[in-house]
Amino acid sequence: MQAREIQAVPPDPYRAWFECIAGCPGRYSLKEIIYACPKCGNLLEVRHDLDLLRKKSPAYWKDLFDRRLMGNHWPYGSSVWGKREMVCPDVEDANVVSTLEGGSNLFWAERLGKEIGLPELWVKLCGNSHTGSFKDLGMTVLVSMVRQMISEGVEIPAVACASTGDTSAALAAYCAVADIRAVVFLPRNKVSTAQLIQPIAHGAVTLAIDTDFDGCMELVREFCTRHNIYLANSMNSLRVEGQKTVSMELAQQFDWQVPDWVVIPGGNLGNVSALGKGFKLMHDLGMISKLPRIACAQAERANPLYLSYLKGFDEFEPVQAQPTLASAIQIGNPVSIEKAIRTLQYFGGVVEQASEDELADAVARADRTGLFNCPHTGVALAALFKLVDQGVIKAHDRVVVISTANGLKFPEFKIKYHEGNLGEVASRHPNTPIDVPADYDKVRDAVFRAIEESSCP
Ligand SMILES: *Cc1c(COP(=O)(O)O)cnc(C)c1O
Ligand SMILES: [Zn+2]
Repeated sequence: MQAREIQAVPPDPYRAWFECIAGCPGRYSLKEIIYACPKCGNLLEVRHDLDLLRKKSPAYWKDLFDRRLMGNHWPYGSSVWGKREMVCPDVEDANVVSTLEGGSNLFWAERLGKEIGLPELWVKLCGNSHTGSFKDLGMTVLVSMVRQMISEGVEIPAVACASTGDTSAALAAYCAVADIRAVVFLPRNKVSTAQLIQPIAHGAVTLAIDTDFDGCMELVREFCTRHNIYLANSMNSLRVEGQKTVSMELAQQFDWQVPDWVVIPGGNLGNVSALGKGFKLMHDLGMISKLPRIACAQAERANPLYLSYLKGFDEFEPVQAQPTLASAIQIGNPVSIEKAIRTLQYFGGVVEQASEDELADAVARADRTGLFNCPHTGVALAALFKLVDQGVIKAHDRVVVISTANGLKFPEFKIKYHEGNLGEVASRHPNTPIDVPADYDKVRDAVFRAIEESSCP
């Protein structure tokens, strides 16, 4: 794969290109099949021509994005494509592959917030989306770019990814929409049934491989390099561009005010990097007047970023990730580690971790207040509870927790919790169905008994 540097100015008035995150000279077209800097091997990121974007005022952009949000004008009703000038200006409308991403509920978690002394607690429900996770936000950009390239005659036989379950679901769905061949590498028995059935239903070539995510990642990288297959993992920074709209949409939902803290779970660490990138862009363009602080939450069983944070980010060592209920973040060697560390340093960030017991308890507690969380959101909530206890997050702070997937994708986890079958997890808020015969008196007695028991302290 030979990378050609951009020679001519592309026709679109809003220009974007790939550039090395470590600052090596060289710009590469967004249509290049290139993920790492040919000079130093670091990841690339998408850069936008800020001078061009600054030709319009911050008020112009905010008003434009507000008018487009959830509207009917294709493809701008998508919260990703509604911000296309700042996301990916190089794709033509006809090649956009979209399921109208974004526009997800920013849930005021009033009851849970009250319980922990945080009146301004909000949960951004990114799992309320086409495939049930935030991965849709990035995949729409990546698959649209693939369709654009194919339309220009580039030969791309398939798009492939390694996944902990949600990336493969999103890739398979978007490729199915666009009639592009998808290949997904999954670690066998390490994704939920719902996550496994998604790529199968969408007709993707689905491999269940006898290894973990990191093992799948190694295999898919080699496969893509050798066979000119397009790689859809988040080292491909087109996905980060789509995912960064979560911070833009967040600001938009608060009338372009910025919260004090955003808490986000991290595995491969593309999403925390994307979150920061969106806030930084809006700040650089004067659309927002301050930056939030970012807290990244990791499972104790897969915590390489946390360990590095404890050492002031002076060093980083990959770990062997151990099995965790938060299966989508069971990653020991995160691809976007450098981006994430830079992001956390820029945003006065902190890293906190959660044990299996803490994450499961946080899910159950929050579910009791009307949320319906996935285990990864549980990691973020457990980290939040700790940061509030430590006084790092203060009672008057406005806090947004990024909920990364829909709880409906993880029924096995929830059933086992309520049955008290989660090993080292103490199920403190169990609730199980009551078996009763079809007899009025017995039904009535069962109801009143249950109400009485649940009101006893
Ligand atoms: C992918 C994923 C994450 C982790 O995002 P990274 O970008 O890998 O850090 C967290 N939660 C869910 C549900 C995911 O699917
Ligand atoms: Zn470089």
